[in-house]
Amino acid sequence: MSDTTGVHEPWPPPHPVIDAAYGPRFRPPVPPPVPEPGGRRAGWDLTPIEPTPRSSRWLVVFTAICVLFAALGGYLAYRFVSNDQNPTSWDPRVSTLAVFVERETGLSFTRPVRVRFLNDAEFDKLVTDEASSLSDTERREIADDEAIGRAFGWYTGTTDVVEQKNQLNSAGVLALYSFASREIVVRTDEPNAATLSAPIRATITHEMVHVIQDQHLDVRKLQSNAKGEEQARSVTALIEGHAVYVERRYIFSLPEAEQQAFFDYANKAGDEVDAATKDVAPAITTGLEAPYLTGPILVAAAALTKAGIEQLFVRPPLALDQVLDPRAYFSEDAPETIDAPTETGKIVEKGTIGMVRLYLTLATAMSPQEAWEAAAGWGNDSYTAARADEKSPVCVSWNLVADSEAPAKTLHSALSKWASTRVKQSAVTVDPSTSPIKVRFCDPGTAIAQTLVAETAVYYFYTRANVLEALIENSGSLDVAACATDVVMRTETVANLQEPDDALRGRVAAAVSACSKS
Ligand SMILES: [Zn+2]
Repeated sequence: MSDTTGVHEPWPPPHPVIDAAYGPRFRPPVPPPVPEPGGRRAGWDLTPIEPTPRSSRWLVVFTAICVLFAALGGYLAYRFVSNDQNPTSWDPRVSTLAVFVERETGLSFTRPVRVRFLNDAEFDKLVTDEASSLSDTERREIADDEAIGRAFGWYTGTTDVVEQKNQLNSAGVLALYSFASREIVVRTDEPNAATLSAPIRATITHEMVHVIQDQHLDVRKLQSNAKGEEQARSVTALIEGHAVYVERRYIFSLPEAEQQAFFDYANKAGDEVDAATKDVAPAITTGLEAPYLTGPILVAAAALTKAGIEQLFVRPPLALDQVLDPRAYFSEDAPETIDAPTETGKIVEKGTIGMVRLYLTLATAMSPQEAWEAAAGWGNDSYTAARADEKSPVCVSWNLVADSEAPAKTLHSALSKWASTRVKQSAVTVDPSTSPIKVRFCDPGTAIAQTLVAETAVYYFYTRANVLEALIENSGSLDVAACATDVVMRTETVANLQEPDDALRGRVAAAVSACSKS
């Protein structure tokens, strides 16, 4: 892993001190006709519901919810002035959820926490505060981040990172768990309702998983011990993936009508957030959504093993490639050794892009499939951004190493192709060497319009994660699921996978069956 002397973490933000619920709301899109293994999946209904046309949009709302707390976590802690910090029992409306979470996690709450229900106005007051005005240093850091983002092609022209994150943040927050004050706070139209709606219960279930993580799995230490930003991202993916995994099992344990109520609600919320965030750069939204999408893959894979999900908290993943392809986690395929490249002038940031950002970067220049196959060879990367002098643009030296020789060639040619599509003002060069691959480029400036990664490429990534997780759950084998996912993603369109029909399900089942035999 590279060092993290960078002054500012551009993507994704560190896991918030205060977390808000909500992971992706996908049903497994392509449930193959595989029997549930040994009743482990009790409650997991494999029958697909009616197509959910905006299903991809769900992701946006749920991730947006977390962002706010990434931004406000620090502020919020002191505002949780609770007069009942140590309740002796759960609110009766949520006690069955606590039982569910204990059963699913195999852990027992050491103590209940307070669950506060607030109406919209109260909740907004809690979570939306005037952010204190930024200091000069913070402004400079943000400007540098924007310059680096323009250099990589994540942002265009005058993309304003703070403003765009605010757009995401204000799109909607449903609930949160405060590690600091140890309470769950939930937004609801009916704070005094005797019974809670399915979406609210699912949300609380997610938050309760964070409570049990806090009480048993030492997640705060896991976060602070993460070595470098790429491991921090993978730890976040683990923490959220676990919560999403349990929450989803809760949803699928509900009667069909309640499940439908949940998905209707999620779709509606997704539409609202979509409308509110349509101008936000995909690199920003995807960065925030990634933990919810990718984390459940690793958690589902660990659930199949004897050591179970808890092993992930004992030996957390080292990078997102281990989360995206858990075979790398279980074979202990650690990131390759890499040196930070040198740059002359004033260093403004050093960092690691990681596999997800690499994919999004390449996907501006080639098909999602091609970008994925190249990014999958990621072994490690390290960049150094610097200004030669005050008036010079930020330039970035970026080194990448692949897992081995063949992927290095694929990655090198993908980066060369990417380089050939970059705006000329970025002055990109790719060294012929493949070990490490050396790329250098500069911020083309705010006057240059850049084509950002297409929504279809983002959805390819979401869909791939979702298909792999669904196939792990439904085939009961990580190897079979990984093999079948490769086949399915090569041969099916994302649009078809998001709204599967019987014919598609048949083809997926055939892929699973063929992979089971090979
Ligand atoms: Zn969460």
